[in-house]
Amino acid sequence: MADRRRRRGLRLLVRWLLGPDSDTLKQQQLILIVTSFVFLLLSALFNGLFGITPFLLVAIYVAALPVFGGLWWQGRWRDRTSEATAISLAILALVVAPATWFLNAGSQGPTLILYLVLVSYAVGVQSVWVRWRAGSLILLLVSPVVCLLLEMWVPHWVTPYPDTFTRLIDLVFSYSAGAMLLIIVILGHVRRFNQELYKANVLSKRLTDMARKDSLTGLLNHKVIHQGVMAALAHQRPFSLIMLDLDHFKKVNDRHGHLYGDTVLVQFALVLRACCEPSKGQVGRAGGEEFLAIIPGPEEAANNFLSHLRTEWAICSLEHGAVTFSAGAASWVPGDSLNSLIQRADDALYGAKDGGRDRWVVSTASSGAGL
Ligand code: GH3
Ligand code: MG
Ligand code: MG
Repeated sequence: MADRRRRRGLRLLVRWLLGPDSDTLKQQQLILIVTSFVFLLLSALFNGLFGITPFLLVAIYVAALPVFGGLWWQGRWRDRTSEATAISLAILALVVAPATWFLNAGSQGPTLILYLVLVSYAVGVQSVWVRWRAGSLILLLVSPVVCLLLEMWVPHWVTPYPDTFTRLIDLVFSYSAGAMLLIIVILGHVRRFNQELYKANVLSKRLTDMARKDSLTGLLNHKVIHQGVMAALAHQRPFSLIMLDLDHFKKVNDRHGHLYGDTVLVQFALVLRACCEPSKGQVGRAGGEEFLAIIPGPEEAANNFLSHLRTEWAICSLEHGAVTFSAGAASWVPGDSLNSLIQRADDALYGAKDGGRDRWVVSTASSGAGL
């Protein structure tokens, strides 16, 4: 219990420091500033307590603390995260790292580790500004070389370790701190990658859905239903293709408005889907006020489906009274194609309309359209 409360507290603190989880890039940018602050604070304490470096370096670290605090404030609360990150990286590369180099044992000290961590930040975090990233990378690659050359030409500029034990302590501390920072950066990348992947998957699913479904009713669109018919044909098992059309729908629109007409279509789609479910078929919108259904099984299954639909649709209360439908069903016979089925279902639908509407006609290849 206490453990869970502590973890929750930690999560709240991280979110307060780095912002909401939904903005992973901003979080990662702020990690640079926050970890730099912590690194400077710990290094100032460590160097000050153990007297590893001259006081000047401790003073530089301490002086940088309010600057990084201010940059964090700007990045976290003033929406200037990219600018604050870029300035932080510049201060680290141009002031903190060179000062550490010359005041903390040059190439014998921990600064090369610090440069490596900064490179990993510059590559991953600065991705918003490509030019900045290139510039900071060049700076971070050139700086240690310049420092090494200066160390070679003017060795007395570098303050060495007082003894080998101090070096040991400092390098162990610096290596551990550097490794921790790298772990934080890498885990941040992995987290960001996973979140972006999740977002991409959600979007791609939505796009696939949009490509398959009719936007008004949410039913499959006619292309997908046609594919369903092709799949059913490939199975060579009995099924029926049914075309359904709302009767005198134009009048419904003319009398009560197009929007009301839309609600009738949505309502019909709902009933259609519910009635199709027991037969494990598929329903779609062919366009306008026309719908398509694939009902597995023999002709009898199509009749049962249509009878069930008629009952359910009749008891569905619509604001401006009942709207009937007509349907034409074509049951599969060997040798049928998508075209022949559609043609027969269409003919049957015309038969139903001609016969007075509010009815259905089932046609088979051998019998032709008939009641
Ligand atoms: P019938 O009984 O012969 O089928 O007559 P009908 O009036 O239903 O058929 P008609 O083809 O003359 O008219 C279809 C109407 O469907 C015309 C059109 O405005 C309407 N319609 C088509 N798509 C939509 C839609 O998405 N929303 C609405 N509200 N109406 C639509
Ligand atoms: Mg109609
Ligand atoms: Mg029509």
